[in-house]
Amino acid sequence: MRRSVEDRMNEAKAIPILEAMERLGVAGLHNLGHEKVGPCPVCGGKDRFSINPTKGVFNCRRCDRGGDVIALAEHVLACDFLRALDFLVGEAAPEIDQRALEARRKKAREAEAKREAAAAEFRARAVEDARAIWARAVPGEGTAAQAYLAGRGIRFDAWPPSLRFIADHPMIKKAPGMPRAAQVHRGPALIGAIQNPQGRITAVHQTWIDPRQPGQKADIRNPATGEALPAKLVRGSKKGGAIRLGKVVDGCTLVMGEGIETTASALVAWRQPGAVYWVGIDLGNMAGRQKGRNTGLPDLEDGEAFVPPPEVAKLIYLQDGDSDPTTTRAKLLAGLRRAMAQNPDIEAMIACAPEGKDFNDLIN
Ligand SMILES: [Zn+2]
Repeated sequence: MRRSVEDRMNEAKAIPILEAMERLGVAGLHNLGHEKVGPCPVCGGKDRFSINPTKGVFNCRRCDRGGDVIALAEHVLACDFLRALDFLVGEAAPEIDQRALEARRKKAREAEAKREAAAAEFRARAVEDARAIWARAVPGEGTAAQAYLAGRGIRFDAWPPSLRFIADHPMIKKAPGMPRAAQVHRGPALIGAIQNPQGRITAVHQTWIDPRQPGQKADIRNPATGEALPAKLVRGSKKGGAIRLGKVVDGCTLVMGEGIETTASALVAWRQPGAVYWVGIDLGNMAGRQKGRNTGLPDLEDGEAFVPPPEVAKLIYLQDGDSDPTTTRAKLLAGLRRAMAQNPDIEAMIACAPEGKDFNDLIN
């Protein structure tokens, strides 16, 4: 007598996912924490596919597929639920069509290569744009950029060459509701050079300012909805980069905050002897990927996050008191631990602004 679908489903669900993984020919995974991580059997990659043996589930970030042992069989074999049951617990015990499977994998690999080439081209164009913007910008001293920072209490002893100014700069972006990227604003802007670990400019950080109200950013509206848009925009590839407000020397302390205003406030108000100040652009760049949500444990496979240059002896991350403390803390810890994993001799710490305040509030 044929077993009911329900019986077969329960039998299939009882199969350990690692056993199913082996039978399905999923290979090349390595242990990472409680999971096995590696290329997706369908779309490839390096670390987008994971199996959690304890929970008996899998996930592919790119395919956007995940689930239990049966879902895994459906994913790998590109079949429906009933065929997946046939494979896992028999009845007809169908052969896998190896040729169809190989053809599907080949197609996925080709699609992946195409996507990667398109992404690389897109990145290259963004970096080119960033360098063109930087080349158009003039030194910031004596401009509305200087007045903007002064309006926020930030006055440098020596103006950092990494901060420039463009008097009439277009903001081009595709905000929600807009059919395509277009100019949403035009005006004076503070331009920060984002340098990659090798020191090359790969992106610019743009802040549009309101020249009539020193210290205020421009009021920019989404042309489609009328909603306020952030007055800041990064163009280029910021990965692992920073805006360098000073030069790192052997044995120095590196102080890093998320934004220009935060970091520069710490520089002018809280100058540490022998310290250099760099802007980390955003918490994601400063932290890199974590092993699990808000664990504070860096995923060391992520090679695109910021790490301090080898000359740095002490790393201080600035934590503003006005951001969500749990996720912020976890990100900062992940970043500091990443730095310590790379250089075990480095001293690493977090400096906090009082609750509800950021570092710029402290100097005003
Ligand atoms: Zn996949």
